[in-house]
This record gives sequence, structure tokens and C-alpha cells, in this order.
Amino acid sequence: MIKNRVFRKKLSSILAATIFLVFLYNCSSSESSNRDDEIEIIDDTEEVKTMDTIVLNIRVHIMKDIIMTHPTGQIMTSWVTPANVTEIIVLEVNKIWEQAGIVWNIESIIEENVVKSDTYNESLVFLANTKRDSQGRSDPARLPHLFSLMQPKYLSTESQLGKNLFHIYLFPFIGNTSQGNAMSSYNYHSVLGTWTNKHNGGGVPEKTLLTEVQYSFNRGSLSRTISHEIGHVLNLSHKECADSCLMGGTNSDGYLLTEGQIITARIEALGRSFD
Ligand SMILES: [Zn+2]
Repeated sequence: MIKNRVFRKKLSSILAATIFLVFLYNCSSSESSNRDDEIEIIDDTEEVKTMDTIVLNIRVHIMKDIIMTHPTGQIMTSWVTPANVTEIIVLEVNKIWEQAGIVWNIESIIEENVVKSDTYNESLVFLANTKRDSQGRSDPARLPHLFSLMQPKYLSTESQLGKNLFHIYLFPFIGNTSQGNAMSSYNYHSVLGTWTNKHNGGGVPEKTLLTEVQYSFNRGSLSRTISHEIGHVLNLSHKECADSCLMGGTNSDGYLLTEGQIITARIEALGRSFD
């Protein structure tokens, strides 16, 4: 009975907040021709940005006991440490997501030995060789290989799916010219490579930068890619925009979310933040 009452209270809070956000979005996205309306748009944006902080939990899996060899001869091992995650990465991710009023809290960091099934060696060779197609699309066939390396006991349980637990898996390498994948078809157990050759067009992989100075986008860091993939988990898709977009598609080169993306992400985040 008490539980039902608490649940109803939570539900009505979510509904009220959702209606408010949708109302703000409608106000701010409507076309305006007079100066008063323009002033109103600026006010709405500020209101969205100064709303209450939403805290979401993230589980970081540092994949260990795995050595991947690239066709160029580069040996790639796990090198990111738990201290890198707590002292550098999460701070930068939170700096990026501050624009949406969302704070990422580390639920746990798991140094996880990969699963070594009968297809383990085959998976490593596949991942080291897979490429984008001529249209620039990354190979979806690598995703089951990556998923097969995750320990089942550290995945979200059935009851945790869609709730306040988000996953980031740090593998040495996830495919040529690829830095991350949200893994929507694997319940968003999102994967990233701590080695990359995206910046050199598929050449010799190098360690992915943990962060990068935001005003001079160059390679795209691990922190930025994590921020991009969790954007997908919060219902954001690739969107072409003028410049400096976190969720940009082919011209993905920055850190900003659009006003509409902030509202979409906050609605999803709010719905999951009570669990
Ligand atoms: Zn993406």
C-alpha cells in the first residue's frame, strides 16, 4: 500500500515534469516573428538549463585479460585505470552533460576478465580486421563478438533494464575507425575502444585520448565518445547541425546538445532517475 502510494507519487512527479518540459519545448520551438517572442525563447532556454539536477548511475567495465593484435602489428592491451575513470573521465563527462543538468554517478568500476569461449580467438581476429563499408557505416557483425566477451553476471539483470543503471565497456579495440557503439540491440551495454585509428583513417591504432581541449576539437576523446554514446541511451539520435555538436552524424565534431536534445534526454533521464 505504502509502496503503491510512493509509486503513484513518483509517477505523478514524472508526468508533471514531462508535461512541463513538453510545454517548454513547444513554446521554444514555435516560430516567432516579434521581439517579445524572441525574448521569451531565451528565457525558456535558461529555465530548462537551470532545472533540478538529475543523477544517473553508470557502471564502468574495464575489460581485462585480453590482448588484441592489429593487422599493422600493433599490440593492444587494456591500459585505462580505475583512477583514470574517477579522476579524469567522469569529470569530463559531467562537464559535457552539465548543459543538460544531468550528473553521472559511478555505481561501480569493474575490472572484468573477458569471457573466453570457443569462439574467443575468432572474435579477436574479427574485431581487429573489421572496417566501415563504402557508405561509412560501421560493421554491425562485430557487435555480437563484443557482447560475447562480456561476463553475464555484470550485465543488467532483467529487472534493471531501462532503470537507473547505465553501462560503459572499455575494450582495447572495437573495430577499425570506430571509437564507440551504444549497443542498442544489446540492451545498451555500450562499448568503446581504448585504442583507436579513427583519427588516422584506419592506420596504426594509438591509445585513445582520455580528454581533449574542448575548443580545439581534433581527435575526439574517450570522455567525449562516452558522452556521445550515453546520449544515444537517453534517446538521442545523430543529428546534422551547424557545428560543435555532441550528437552530430557525419560531421560529429563538438560537445553541444541542441535545446530539443536536452529536453528529450532529460525526459528519459527523469523517468529512470527514481529507480
Ligand atoms: Zn552515435
